[in-house]
Amino acid sequence: MAEVKYIIPHGHTITKENRQEHKGHKSCILWYTGLSGSGKSTIANKVEEKMFDMGFHTYILDGDNVRMGLNKGLGFSDDDRKENIRRIGEVSKLFIDAGVIVGTAFISPFRSDRDMVRSIVKENEFIEIYVNTPLDVCEERDPKGLYKKARAGEIKFFTGIDSPYEAPENPEINLLTANRSVDDCADEVITWLAAKGYIKMEEPAITNN
Ligand code: ADP
Repeated sequence: MAEVKYIIPHGHTITKENRQEHKGHKSCILWYTGLSGSGKSTIANKVEEKMFDMGFHTYILDGDNVRMGLNKGLGFSDDDRKENIRRIGEVSKLFIDAGVIVGTAFISPFRSDRDMVRSIVKENEFIEIYVNTPLDVCEERDPKGLYKKARAGEIKFFTGIDSPYEAPENPEINLLTANRSVDDCADEVITWLAAKGYIKMEEPAITNN
């Protein structure tokens, strides 16, 4: 990457802390990681829906809005995958600065890439959520028919089939999804955030719908 000289930071008057106070909650990254079909997008979306209703400021970065724009042109080579995650990490950091709770839903199979993102934000700002769903359950769900294609050899280097997935060793949240409802999984994330003081809830997140 080209070296750029003479970038002198301009001190902003309004700080991250001001923004968090204004919004009434802490900002952080909810980094969902797991196999394809494990439930990252579904749970991230349900968490956002619930938090939005509670008045929190949230956003989701996922393949749909990132691969089509910011990361258009990046493929699936090792270097491109790494650059994909690096950019997502940097954008997430900006969202934290903006006082927003940002959810990211990417397989992000490599520990080193996830740890790199963790390293560019403050401690407690990176919440790794391991969407822990066994491969056979993901394959059974196969919401996009991708496992079928991978098994048929139509997709190469598919995570979990012929490309590795390095599970988090110490995720902040180890979210088991098999035989559980999406609602239940989303409530676990929100309850964790409340218990750790990121958000304050007037009523418990647990709902019966
Ligand atoms: P990913 O984003 O990890 O690739 P998706 O969210 O696209 O996965 O797909 C997960 C699929 O599993 C969806 O069809 C969803 O309805 C289903 N599913 C069943 N139970 C759960 C659960 N407890 N949590 C998340 N998804 C679930």
